[in-house]
Amino acid sequence: MYNFQLSEERRQFQEMARKFAEKEVKPLNDKFDDDWETHRIMPQVLKKAAELGFMGLTIDPKYGGTGADGMTIMAVLEELAAVNGGVACVIGDTWFAQTPIIIAANEEQRERFLRPLASRDEVNLGCICMTEPASGADIEDSRMRLRTVKTIIKEDGDDYIINGVKIWPSNAGIASHYVVIATTDPKLEDKGSCIIVVEKDRPGLSFGKIERKMGMPEDQNREVIFEDVRVPKNNLLGKIGDGHKILQTTVAYNRLGAGMISVGMARGAFEYALKYCKDRVVGGKPLIKHSLISAMFADMATKIDAARLLVYRASWSLRVRDPNRARYSDMAKVFPTNMAMEVTSNCVQVMGSYGYSKEYPVEKYMRDAKIVQIYLGPNELVQQLIGESL
Ligand SMILES: Cc1cc2nc3c(=O)[nH]c(=O)nc-3n(C[C@H](O)[C@H](O)[C@H](O)COP(=O)(O)OP(=O)(O)OC[C@H]3O[C@@H](n4cnc5c(N)ncnc54)[C@H](O)[C@@H]3O)c2cc1C
Repeated sequence: MYNFQLSEERRQFQEMARKFAEKEVKPLNDKFDDDWETHRIMPQVLKKAAELGFMGLTIDPKYGGTGADGMTIMAVLEELAAVNGGVACVIGDTWFAQTPIIIAANEEQRERFLRPLASRDEVNLGCICMTEPASGADIEDSRMRLRTVKTIIKEDGDDYIINGVKIWPSNAGIASHYVVIATTDPKLEDKGSCIIVVEKDRPGLSFGKIERKMGMPEDQNREVIFEDVRVPKNNLLGKIGDGHKILQTTVAYNRLGAGMISVGMARGAFEYALKYCKDRVVGGKPLIKHSLISAMFADMATKIDAARLLVYRASWSLRVRDPNRARYSDMAKVFPTNMAMEVTSNCVQVMGSYGYSKEYPVEKYMRDAKIVQIYLGPNELVQQLIGESL
């Protein structure tokens, strides 16, 4: 029924991502933590990523992208995250912001928004603005029908005027395109909901200070503030009332991506810790020869593979429009992200104090893994949605 084998083309993309991560990202890995506020390093990484066509991987060649299929995109995400989860998150989140445009834009909008986002000559990132100070998980909760959104759009002649504050969006401040979840009136719930694209240079758009976080310093998160931001009506995706539906489809296409970032991070930590435990001698023999440690590695290897297979199944189900695709995507978010937290923490454990040291890479994987359990729908919410779908 399922065929998860990578085609030759997919393997080439995977190989390209692996080489990029090893050559352009890995040598910088111990510098990102100190660069969380200055963000001097990421531009050079993103420039290389753009040149290789990663930004437009999800975009149709008609608009200058590569048009890779879902499984190829997942394979690329795993390779990036196996070296650095934060870099995978920044690139993955630009794809996340592209999704509503790919789903709901008309031909003129696709040409206008997707072509620059797919550019290889300059870095144009997308930023999806959902979360607000008073409402995070609720905005992604299909049952809430966007009734907690406080970012308001009002009609004014040929334009809309936007007012509101978003918090935490990835790529905030550096992105060229802001894909904003808004409403004409929260009381109308989904009937007033909408998604509108705001270009970076629009007057009234500003940004708060960069948030200092436990992990993922490569990702720039800050408030995105809209004060009477005027945008033409033809920046609206679909029509007023479509926001809820477009967002839910977008989320289904992206939850598995959070799962694959987690698979990559877990694999990266696992591979390092395994090598370490083959070399490190304790009690007269290499750590890996101790049966408890060996069993831990067997368990970790099994769970990483199980998580990857859930992601591939979800990707397949989206392609064939399987009726269970939303549940499969939710499952491919919850299990892999919980798995990555467990595996990365175990990798720190088996390496002892060296695992806890910033001189070794595994503690970063553990810090980075935590947020993926929270964003794109906290796991408790997503578990609840899986339960209800049963
Ligand atoms: C690195 C990073 C990147 C991010 N990127 C983006 C982005 O690109 N765009 C964007 O809009 N936002 C982004 N966010 C924000 C993130 O998506 C939200 O923080 C997340 O949705 C949770 O919202 P909240 O923090 O307001 O928590 P709350 O909604 O207050 O939830 C707090 C906790 O309550 C529990 N909970 C919530 N709802 C339920 C429920 N229904 N049932 C049971 N338990 C529940 C969960 O344990 C949850 O963690 C990012 C955040 C970070 C740190």
